Amino acid sequence: MDKKITSPYNIVCTPKKGDVTISKFKFQQKKKLLEKEFKRSKKFLRYIKRVFDFDEIVKQQKDLRKKQELKTGVIFTILFWGFVLRVQSFNRLEQMINYGVFNPLFPRKIKLPSIDTISGAIAKWDLEALEKSFQTINAVLAKNKTFKNGTIDGFTVCAFDGTDVVNTGEKKKCEHCILMKNGKGFHYVHKSVVAMVIGAEINYVIKQNMLKVKSEEKKIDKTTFKEKIITKSEGEHTGAIELLEELPSFIDTIVGDSLYFTSPFIKSVVNSKRHAVIRLEDKTRNVHMALEHFSQYNTCNDSFTNKVDNITTTVYYWFKDTRIEDSTVLAKDPERYVAIRIYKFIEVIESAVKGKENYSFKEVFVGTTNKDMLPKTVLKIIHRRWNIENSCFHQLKTYCNMEHCFKHGSVAIEAILNIMFMAYNLIQAFLFKRLRSFNGEFTKGKTTISWFIESMKFELVIVNFLIKYNFVESDFLNTT
Ligand SMILES: [Zn+2]
Repeated sequence: MDKKITSPYNIVCTPKKGDVTISKFKFQQKKKLLEKEFKRSKKFLRYIKRVFDFDEIVKQQKDLRKKQELKTGVIFTILFWGFVLRVQSFNRLEQMINYGVFNPLFPRKIKLPSIDTISGAIAKWDLEALEKSFQTINAVLAKNKTFKNGTIDGFTVCAFDGTDVVNTGEKKKCEHCILMKNGKGFHYVHKSVVAMVIGAEINYVIKQNMLKVKSEEKKIDKTTFKEKIITKSEGEHTGAIELLEELPSFIDTIVGDSLYFTSPFIKSVVNSKRHAVIRLEDKTRNVHMALEHFSQYNTCNDSFTNKVDNITTTVYYWFKDTRIEDSTVLAKDPERYVAIRIYKFIEVIESAVKGKENYSFKEVFVGTTNKDMLPKTVLKIIHRRWNIENSCFHQLKTYCNMEHCFKHGSVAIEAILNIMFMAYNLIQAFLFKRLRSFNGEFTKGKTTISWFIESMKFELVIVNFLIKYNFVESDFLNTT
């Protein structure tokens, strides 16, 4: 007999003959259909396993805990997926573990670690093994021709930028904490210089270097009479010079903001057989003043125009070939000088909104060691440099809480940062290289990376319950 059910919306639902009730649903027969429902996490997992040999990366991880009831690989997988799903703290990670978010990633019999175990392991992580895995991922990206045609107008461009990784407030917590001033106050941070390949839709972290503490002294604060420990780190661009030597050979151009406009840095770039494109903001520098003077009394060397939708940008530019000096090298030594071309660009941006014309102007000075590079490309590279701020750091700081201290200590901070970058690179590669449909929708503004990640989290939660009640096998996602 038909049974009438009244829904809370006052609609009478009458089951029809032939309707399949949920209890009769044969999940095994419908496995193919069901798998399609979880295509995001399934495809991502398959992608990182097949293309990047993720199982091998998991196996390679080591830590130096004395008692290792739980294998490092399990802890690594949880941390990696935690950062893929943009976990904000260890507290949240613990809640996710308890809720079963990560269960579908493991065979049923594996016991998942407590947050204390994770915390203990990350403090003793084998950074060398982790670095090796990180470089394996980058090598695969390069092998798969990710950078074959360059990332900006045929050049493979790498941006350098420094970032505060952990802000620990006014308390110095370890020997690697660096004192930073902010107005009248101060705080301690750990700092890292990051090298990242940039281009349209291509952003990968290649390497990072934690800045080392160079000196430490104790002083009494005159206002509070409290002892203050002053630690100074090596400079950001010194850290970057160290990084330069370790960059893979496919990178041919280095871009940096005005902090990197120093002769030792530019010389190091040239010595590494690469070219530099560096912004020049310091108006008191001779090279800046000379070009400014030149541009005031001469018409521009040339101009070019770009039109995107109803925005027209006309760029006028002047340039001068000159050299900059390294005062640490003797005057007679040819190493004292580095040849550079300085550009001054003036961008006139015209836009028509509802028939009303708007104008704005931008001025930018850039130095480059590559005289053959088109001025248009030089400017494009400088504009894209913002990617490192806007995409990588913005995403990691906003969504992954990069500045949050998950666990204090130099090993833990570096390990967490590298796993975070690994997760970031693999998500980028998956979305922009593997899922071509995502790329199109993303460019049109129809979807976001955040939404993709959020829905992947939902999938894991549902799969966990399907496994729990035996609707599917525990290796449902783990397809080989
Ligand atoms: Zn510290």
